[in-house]
Amino acid sequence: MTHHRQTKIVATLGPASSDKAMIKTLLEAGVNVFRLNFSHGKPEDHVAKLEIIRALEAELKRPVAILADMQGPKLRIGTFKEGSVTLSEGQNFRFDLDPAPGDETRVNLPHPEVLSVLEEGGRIFLDDGKVRAKITKKGKDFAEAVILSGAKLSDKKGLNVPGTLIPIPALTDKDKADIAAALEMGVDWIAQSFVQTPEDVKEARALINGRASLLVKIEKPAALGHIDEIIALADGVMLARGDLGVEIPPEDVPSVQKRIVRKVRESGKPIIVATQMLESMITNARPTRAEASDVATAVYDGADAVMLSAETATGDYPARAVEIMARICLRTEEDETYHDMMEVYHPETLGDPSDAITTAAYYVAEDVEASLIVTYTVSGSTALRMARQRPHVPILCLTPHESVARRLSLSYGVRAVVTEEHESDFTGPAHHAAQIALQTGLAEKGQRFVMTAGVPFGEPGSTNILRIADVE
Ligand code: PGA
Ligand code: MN
Repeated sequence: MTHHRQTKIVATLGPASSDKAMIKTLLEAGVNVFRLNFSHGKPEDHVAKLEIIRALEAELKRPVAILADMQGPKLRIGTFKEGSVTLSEGQNFRFDLDPAPGDETRVNLPHPEVLSVLEEGGRIFLDDGKVRAKITKKGKDFAEAVILSGAKLSDKKGLNVPGTLIPIPALTDKDKADIAAALEMGVDWIAQSFVQTPEDVKEARALINGRASLLVKIEKPAALGHIDEIIALADGVMLARGDLGVEIPPEDVPSVQKRIVRKVRESGKPIIVATQMLESMITNARPTRAEASDVATAVYDGADAVMLSAETATGDYPARAVEIMARICLRTEEDETYHDMMEVYHPETLGDPSDAITTAAYYVAEDVEASLIVTYTVSGSTALRMARQRPHVPILCLTPHESVARRLSLSYGVRAVVTEEHESDFTGPAHHAAQIALQTGLAEKGQRFVMTAGVPFGEPGSTNILRIADVE
């Protein structure tokens, strides 16, 4: 029996992957979700990519999700007279509000909010932690620091104040304009960066107002303190290990990953594990074995999706990176240990009729050795609940809404097909589902499938029927 990959692949588009031929190659290699990175490029560039993806989606007849990733309130230093300086350990360095270009002794810190939370003895990280400094003196409009670990520092590099909640709005003016542009383009997901509090998520939710799903990026330690509330307010989560790993020590990243993936899976929302997964493939045709193991670990942890960033956006081997990632996911899903691990952390049922049916479908599918689970879903919520069970066979999700089908591309095991609603005669839908299973290649004649639906048809949240049928 062929195994269909259940773990989804998110690929970031960029200069190495912006033409139609490459995007098609990436789709054929197994990409389920494309990420448009709004930290780079103009809205027009993103529109061009979106149009290519939508054309290919129609051509290849499979829904693809488009994720617009917002830059968020990333803190940056100002510029230098010479474009960069080299700072060495032990020297003094000053951060101030003066917008004049800096030198070896000082630089502009264009964020008064940051200056206000700096404390004597506190730390400040620059350029993803490559330069580290300790604050020695705090004035009204400046902070003196001593460099603890030096390196070259150039214009507008990122800045972190580890472990401190910075009193800045979660959405910058750029984010607001970019969200409006992304909604206008018709993206499926919007990712919010540098979330610190549940209020930040509420603000984005209000702005998006149901026009796309909201993915929250966990990349600030402050967010970890309110993680349950943040997950409850989001439609999905990305564990953004790049920025998160700047502010928390490397040894803390693996346990945070395990905890977050478990919690988000439990909530029935999709969780993406992101960043540096096949990093060496930016310049090499093969990943390191440790990278292969990192992708597999995300799968063993129970992630819905794994992500490629620079590997596909600017790397030399975008298609190979996707192919290798897909192979690692497939192999891991076939491992006995993986099944045991999914069982150990099997989530509790939610205690409503819909979830009772979904949970039952999971066990029935195991018992009758079904090769497919079919869910009829209007809003997508039954498909999410099915995905939460992490079944070993694909979930064919039949929905009348294209937007639902696209959003579900991110979720574990879900293959969504847009199809009209069916009559309440329950023999009709089973036959209909079997035909679609055949057409999509998810099942063969003679195989068995388990199906859930709600009668009367077409009413959201009414899943109340479980059926076993054969593909004929
Ligand atoms: P970014 O997010 O690529 O937008 O920075 C991912 C991360 O920080 O890991
Ligand atoms: Mn980030």
